[in-house]
Amino acid sequence: MSESPTRLVTAVIVVAAGSGQRLGYGMPKAAVPLGGEPILMHALRGIVASGVATQVCVALPAGDQDLRRLCDDFREELADGGPLLTVVDGGSTRAGSVRAGIAALMDGIEAVLVHDAARALTPESVFHRVSDSLVAGAAAVIPVLPVVDTVKTVAATAGDDTALAPEVVTGTARREELRAVQTPQGFTIGTLLKAHEAAQGLDGQQAAAVTDDAMLVEMLGTPVHAVRGSTQSLKITTPLDLIFAEGLLEGPLGARWVEG
Ligand code: C5P
Repeated sequence: MSESPTRLVTAVIVVAAGSGQRLGYGMPKAAVPLGGEPILMHALRGIVASGVATQVCVALPAGDQDLRRLCDDFREELADGGPLLTVVDGGSTRAGSVRAGIAALMDGIEAVLVHDAARALTPESVFHRVSDSLVAGAAAVIPVLPVVDTVKTVAATAGDDTALAPEVVTGTARREELRAVQTPQGFTIGTLLKAHEAAQGLDGQQAAAVTDDAMLVEMLGTPVHAVRGSTQSLKITTPLDLIFAEGLLEGPLGARWVEG
């Protein structure tokens, strides 16, 4: 009987091509400083430290020379035997950025973890839980947390979702069945390719409703497994998130605090 492999040849696609408008820094979010270093550097160091990646493929805002230089410098910093670091121009949507990353994967990749650069402080343990689940046979796996708020649905109003125009509540979701979804989301290479191929057939409205890769896999009817995420994997989106992230790095708990 052949032994099961202890790991799959894995690439991490880091989507870092967002504008970061909600952060309000006037620069791409990946370049915004956190603890003295761009957000992207924290994300890259975390991925490399986890040891899961044979290749790290970063999707940057198209034409951004500063972030490209940052990646070039980091490539030099990586010791021999570290992952291959590839840089691509991202797309105008998150899914487009993932697809640009897929197009640059090296031969022989068996599994792909898609990770938001904005979740820059994701602990290594989360990468391991996602990878281990793929090794155990899952085709798709996502890190999740229980939801603490009561979540209601509303009659959707068109336009800016931050404006909070008066809305009518249409229902209340059962909280025990809800999970907040994070990244890295892991997929066997075949599953991710099939999911993004199918996404090409979506119309504009359907495509705009796709907010993560697992959703595309769900549309294929393929089971998506969930493992425990981490509160430390917060997605840096608003100025308050940046304050939280700074606090995790520099606060009384400091860099010693790692939530598993
Ligand atoms: O905008 P959103 O919060 O969904 O972004 C999640 C992640 O996707 C971020 O890391 C962002 O940089 C990335 N993204 C991207 N290309 C886009 C839009 C978002 O790589 N066109």
